[in-house]
This record gives sequence, structure tokens and C-alpha cells, in this order.
Amino acid sequence: MPTYREAHRRSIEDPESFWGEQARRIHWETPFEQVLDRSNPPFARWFVGGKTNLCYNAIDRHLAARARQNALVYVSTETGIERRYTYAELHAEVNRMAAVMRSLGVTQGERVLIYLPMIPEALFAMLACARLGAIHSVVFGGFAAPSLAARIDDATPVLIVTADAGARAGRVIDYTPLVDEALARATHKVPKVLLIDRQLAPERLQAPYLVAYEPLRERFFDAHVPCVWLESNQPSYVLYTSGTTGKPKGVQRDVGGYAVALAASMEHIFQGKPGDTMWTASDVGWVVGHSYIIYAPLIAGLTTVMYEGTPIRPDGGIWWRIIEQHRINLMFTAPTALRVLKKQDPKLMEQADLSSLRTLFLAGEPLDEPTAQWIQSALKKPVVDNYWQTETGWPMIAIPRGIEALSPKLGSPGVPSMGFALTVRNEATGEICAPGEKGVIALDYPLPPGCMQTVWGDDSRFIKTYWNSVPGQQLYSTFDWGVTDEDGYVSILGRTDDVINVAGHRLGTREIEEAISSHRAVAEVAVVGVADSVKGQVALAFVVLRDAQALDKAGAREALEAELARSVDAHLGAIARPARVHFLATLPKTRSGKLLRRAIAALAEGRDPGDLPMIEDAGALVQVKEALAR
Ligand code: ATP
Ligand code: MG
Repeated sequence: MPTYREAHRRSIEDPESFWGEQARRIHWETPFEQVLDRSNPPFARWFVGGKTNLCYNAIDRHLAARARQNALVYVSTETGIERRYTYAELHAEVNRMAAVMRSLGVTQGERVLIYLPMIPEALFAMLACARLGAIHSVVFGGFAAPSLAARIDDATPVLIVTADAGARAGRVIDYTPLVDEALARATHKVPKVLLIDRQLAPERLQAPYLVAYEPLRERFFDAHVPCVWLESNQPSYVLYTSGTTGKPKGVQRDVGGYAVALAASMEHIFQGKPGDTMWTASDVGWVVGHSYIIYAPLIAGLTTVMYEGTPIRPDGGIWWRIIEQHRINLMFTAPTALRVLKKQDPKLMEQADLSSLRTLFLAGEPLDEPTAQWIQSALKKPVVDNYWQTETGWPMIAIPRGIEALSPKLGSPGVPSMGFALTVRNEATGEICAPGEKGVIALDYPLPPGCMQTVWGDDSRFIKTYWNSVPGQQLYSTFDWGVTDEDGYVSILGRTDDVINVAGHRLGTREIEEAISSHRAVAEVAVVGVADSVKGQVALAFVVLRDAQALDKAGAREALEAELARSVDAHLGAIARPARVHFLATLPKTRSGKLLRRAIAALAEGRDPGDLPMIEDAGALVQVKEALAR
């Protein structure tokens, strides 16, 4: 066994030989001719000429050995429904779904937009697309109509798959009116919407474009749809990042590179063996859901657990009981869920038999030290923080326990994963920072397999957004600050842009600002994220009104605050709603007119706002302080 250092060096210095070997982990219908094509940087093509299929690797390939093993265990504490599907049953369901989609005109290369809650059909639909060679674009079910419309126009799908409703914390959220409104807003016309009827929404829409899934499923009950063999570099899916600027970025991924990278990660990082049970408590609408609820565990022959519900319903012990009941071996979630669980009665955790659990994985946001220490001592199992992005598809920093069980260090997710030539760089010069020096986390060309190929439909945006931060150098910027230590461990120090993370949901502060300023009373607004002990971050809004006297009447402040909250709900969903709205006479700005969001956030968190050169109106910061004190 090579040490981590040797293995990583080889993966960077000789990617052809390293990834050529890793490629044996999956089935190739036609072998590839070339491991890596780097003729057109910053684009990279992996396993050129090889033909494969994600659905075949996730299901069909396992039928010989594990037809009767559970592939999917579905648990909903919202509806009380629990279902199990063996690999053979999953195969049948995905064939049915694929046949239904085919009958509705879905063919290779077409897009299917999936707007579904956490139900097994979400997984069936994604794998059915993969089977047909169609490109899925899953939109998180919490998004409101305008966000959905923007994604419809960008992906131009031939079909939308949705459900009557989602359910969260005991509340039913009707989906069909949202889809209806999104379709009305979108320029692109989608001919058909396939409706999974959960019988949750009493007043579900009866629009003519809606096609009920159940009767079609019956009709195609015994269907067998062959897997379409795709060249490794054809697109498998598009997944939008939260989008700090108006238009979200459609992260496009390939087929072969993604399958190989996930299979390798399951061994090198997650140590998931065939027959293990893995529970990733995330949503299929996020990248963690795509990679570690669906593709990676199935490609590696595990049982995957899909969960609809929160960590504290019916009570704060539910997650521990699920681990016990389903003998979960690997668990993956976000630190925000742990911060919620930490507040529960410790007995609830102690009472559960957690002996099946081997490792807990956490990603998506910084793992704060108190939470890390708590879970470590309460669980007495390895806790593996891992750092990555929608763009990379799998962890770029973690402890590669499957290669070498390096000891974790508090405050750092670990070391660069195989194939990631990751460095911390001076933001201006691009020079590699010395240990202890803060810089931007960057990746050398080429990105390893599994990473984004391009921005959907916009190669130049891919280059401009990610590869242009240091002129003259072929460097991918993560837009996150980081620092390394003497041993090569990397710590993440936050983002260079303005995205906030509320309870695991990523929101662009600029999007929230846009929603608020759409209200006619608003002249100007600044939204910042501030630390929150439960949600990670919450949004605070600082609003300048067109007419300051509008607040003079009794109750006007509260009424306006409620109206602004409604505007945010309508544009982005309730999750984006600011925790507080403060009204100011002016906003603090630099002389060049740039809003001092960072300084406002610092004041809101009780920190020193730091150096403020060239501030336009020093009184503005005092106003912020006074508003916060009220
Ligand atoms: P957008 O790119 O549209 O602004 P986003 O960056 O919020 O959206 P994701 O790709 O889901 O969307 O999030 C990736 C980001 O999450 C990383 O760039 C980093 O800032 C943060 N992150 C992820 N995992 C960790 C971690 N383990 N520790 C610290 N930060 C993390
Ligand atoms: Mg990002």
C-alpha cells in the first residue's frame, strides 16, 4: 500500500496511469482509447472514446451478485412511509420510469428537469434519464417559481417531472401551482409535466399539460429499456449552483469520469464496501445528494438510505434510531444538522445502539470546533469533515482513510484528494502561499475526473468565471480562502464571494437584495449573513426607504417588515427570509460606491469592522451600529 503522499504525488504527476487504473472500477461497454485529453485547456476530457452508462453501473452490473440485496431504503418521517427496494426491484422501477419517459418523447441528449421532494421516484427519474442517455437537471424542491423558471429557460427541458407536494416539518408544500407559475414565467415552452401523485395536496392543479405517472407506470410495468451507451464525455447532468449573480451556473458533468471518480472516492475516502448501508441525509437537489445518495453508493454496490424529514421530528432521537434500525454503516450530513442534534437531550443519543456506524462524514459548510468536539466525544467514531463544491462533484479535501488513516486535525478537513493539484495562492500574484499564509484555494489544470466539464451552454462563462483569476496562469479558483500548515493540511477560511449558508441552504445575498428591492418602498438594500448558533448563518437586511416618513405611523415598521419578508418568500422561498430588517437613512459605502457588506456583517457579529479606507459617509456605520442595538 502506498502512503497518502506517494499516492497523491503519482495521481498528479502521472494522472494517465493513476486514473487508468481507477477506471477498472466500473464497466466499460467499449474501452477508452485515451485516459486524458488535455489538448484544449482549461477543458479536460477523461477516458476518451470509452462507452459506458451510469445507470448500468449503478444497477444492472450488480444484478448477477446482489439482485436480492436492498439497493434503496426509503424512510419518510413526514408521511410515515418506509419502503425497501432490492437491486432487482430498483431495476424494474427504473425501467418503468425510463419507458414512461421514452413514451413522452425523452431521448438521448434531451434535458429532463426534475423538481421533486425526497421520494423514491426522484431516484428512479434520475437513473431513468441516465439509462436513456438523457440529461437530468434536478432543481431543489424548496425553490420558488422564479428560480425554477430561470432554470427551465437555461436547461430547456423536454419534460418536467414533479409531484403534487413536498412535506417538511409537518407542513405540506403544494408543488403544482409553483410549476404552473414557473411555466408561465419561462420563455421556453415545456410540452409535458409528469406528475407523481403522493395524495398530499388536496387542491392540486389540473392543468392540461399534466400527465399522471401511475397509469403510465402500470402500462409499462414489464418494460425493459436498454441502457444507451454514451461516450465518456457526453453530459450526464446539469446542476445549478445557488448563483450569486442573477443567472445561476449550470454545472455540467460527464459520464465516465464521474463514475470512475465516485467509485474511487467510495474506496479512498468513504471506505464503503458492497453490502454496506450508507445514509446521506441531504437532498437530491444538491450535489451531495446526486453523488452520495444516488450514484456513488449504488455504483459501489451499497444500500443507500433516502430520508424525507428533519432531525427533530417526531423527536430529537429520530436520526439515532434510524441508524440503529437500518444498521447504517456510513452516515453523511451537514454540520448544521449536527448543531441541531447537539441541542437535544443527550439521552436520546445514548439510548440508541450505534454499533453499526463506522464513520460520520460532514460537508457543505465549515465544521466549527465546538460541534466537532461534541460529536467526536459523543459518538466515539471517526468524524470526517470534507470540503468540496458543486463544481468538483466529490471531496477535494478530506482524510483519505482508505489510503492512509492520517490523523485528523481540528479545524481542517484534511489533505487534497487524489488528482486534485490543490494549492493556496496569493490572490493577486498567484504565487503559492507559505504555510500559515492566507490565500485563495486553487486547483491546477487539469481538474480530475468527476469535476465539471463546463457551464451548461456557455464555455466562455466557464473560462471567465473559474479560470481567469490570475492572468496568464491556468488556475481554477474555488473562491474560498484557505491556509495550509506544515504537514499540508488545509483549513477553509470562508468564501471570497457573498454567499451565505442558512441551515445548509446556500443563498446569494445579492439574490435576497434583489427580492427586497423589488418592493416599491425600497430605495436601497444590503443583505449580509451573520453567524447563528443553530442555522450556521442567517440573513440580515439593511434597508433604505424611498420615503423615510413611511415608518412614522404606528405599526408601519412591522407591516413593512412583513411585506418585505413576503417578497423574499415569493422570489426565493421562505428559507431566504431575513431574520431581521433594519431601516437606515443611508448605507455605508466606499467612495467608489461599493457597499461595505463585510463591515456590516462584522458589526452585526460584534467584531471590529477593520480597516475602512475611502469610506463615503462615516456616519453610515454609526447608523448600522445603532440599528443593531435597537
Ligand atoms: P454558488 O457557487 O452559486 O455561489 P455555493 O458555492 O454556495 O453556490 P456549493 O457548491 O454547494 O454552492 O457549495 C460549495 C461551497 O461550500 C464551498 O466553495 C465552500 O465555501 C463551502 N464548503 C463546502 N464544504 C465545506 C467544508 N467542509 N468546510 C468549509 N466550507 C465548505
Ligand atoms: Mg460556489
